[in-house]
Amino acid sequence: MFTLTLAAGKETRLQSGHPWIYRSEIARVEDEGEPGAVARVHDSRGRFLGQAMANLKSQIAGRLLSRQEAPIDAAFFEGRIREALARCGRSVQGPDGCRLIHGEADHLPGLIVDRYGDLLVVQFLTAGMERVRQTLLAALRALIQPRAIYERNDASFRKLEGLELRKGFAWGEGETSLWIQEGGVSFFVEVAEGQKTGFFLDQRDNRQVVKRLAAGREVLDCFCYSGGFAVSAAAGGAASVIGIDLSAQAIAWAQRAAARNDLSPRCTFMVANAFDALRSFDREERRFGLVILDPPAFTKGKGALEGALRGYKEINLRAMKLLVPGGILVTCSCSYHVDAPMFLEMLRAAAADAHREFHLREVRTQAPDHPVLLAARETQYLKCAVLEALN
Ligand code: SAH
Repeated sequence: MFTLTLAAGKETRLQSGHPWIYRSEIARVEDEGEPGAVARVHDSRGRFLGQAMANLKSQIAGRLLSRQEAPIDAAFFEGRIREALARCGRSVQGPDGCRLIHGEADHLPGLIVDRYGDLLVVQFLTAGMERVRQTLLAALRALIQPRAIYERNDASFRKLEGLELRKGFAWGEGETSLWIQEGGVSFFVEVAEGQKTGFFLDQRDNRQVVKRLAAGREVLDCFCYSGGFAVSAAAGGAASVIGIDLSAQAIAWAQRAAARNDLSPRCTFMVANAFDALRSFDREERRFGLVILDPPAFTKGKGALEGALRGYKEINLRAMKLLVPGGILVTCSCSYHVDAPMFLEMLRAAAADAHREFHLREVRTQAPDHPVLLAARETQYLKCAVLEALN
């Protein structure tokens, strides 16, 4: 039987509730299966710890699926999906966007399922999930009865697992673009061409915070993508909104969303590099009452951490300088290697260099349908700080 035996002392992470096994922690492999096959996991004394999807080609060589002996079959996956659907206020009906399965934190490591209206978008990010693709698709169809299931398996992450990149309908067919409602605002979602699965569902609640704070303010949304924060701010009564993104396609979608919500007169969207735009606004002495920074992850690995923190500091310092007294900065980071304490320390350094004093009004995280596994700090990847300038 395919079995992984851990080196002495290497069972503590699993025992503390974290689901990963690193390749370097494995002392012995018996009857090695194909990448992604389910293996029994033993501690160094041969005691059973659980069953994991194993891929010895990947650094993360095992992802724990179960701590029980029961077989990992179609009924197992259906049960796990049912459990996920029942938690975190998730909804399998209605027109809104919602994450239904969030990988490790839903005990389905490597599986992402988002729902946009009656369309499901799935990502099989590991060799293990790829192997049980048909079982998962059948279970999702039976439990959710979607119109179609679209596969965004073009995430570069899959290369680490030795998987090819591809996208397309996994089941059913039809349109890949649609409108969703969020907080009374309509947003355009393109699941085939958009980033992630089409929309940044993890920022849902933070967009509502921005909407509430925006009234009467001049707003700058850097890294605006399809207008999530920018259009929410306009809907919340912002005096004016500027949205900036490097992607012309994202800007076109943001403009469509502003028009659809009858907010175009107060919204200006520009294709630009946010670093350059922040610099030129400062040169022109433009000031804003609310600035939002939601950049892409500046680092995907631990190695590039220093450079990433420099990048975060630069944009935050520049944004801080643009605020009027009493102005608000909503600043985010989705790199999981930059944890909340590091992020706050970077903000302190930026504020000192900007010669500005702030109240830290809130430190927020991802929306609840992207649950955080307490034992696995990587699952809390999104930081969102709300700062108010006192001078
Ligand atoms: N706030 C958005 C999500 C932002 S994702 C929402 O709530 O929907 C990050 C965005 O930054 C992407 O759209 C990407 O195109 C854009 N981007 C990446 N580098 C950039 C840069 N240097 N300047 C401006 N935009 C950039």
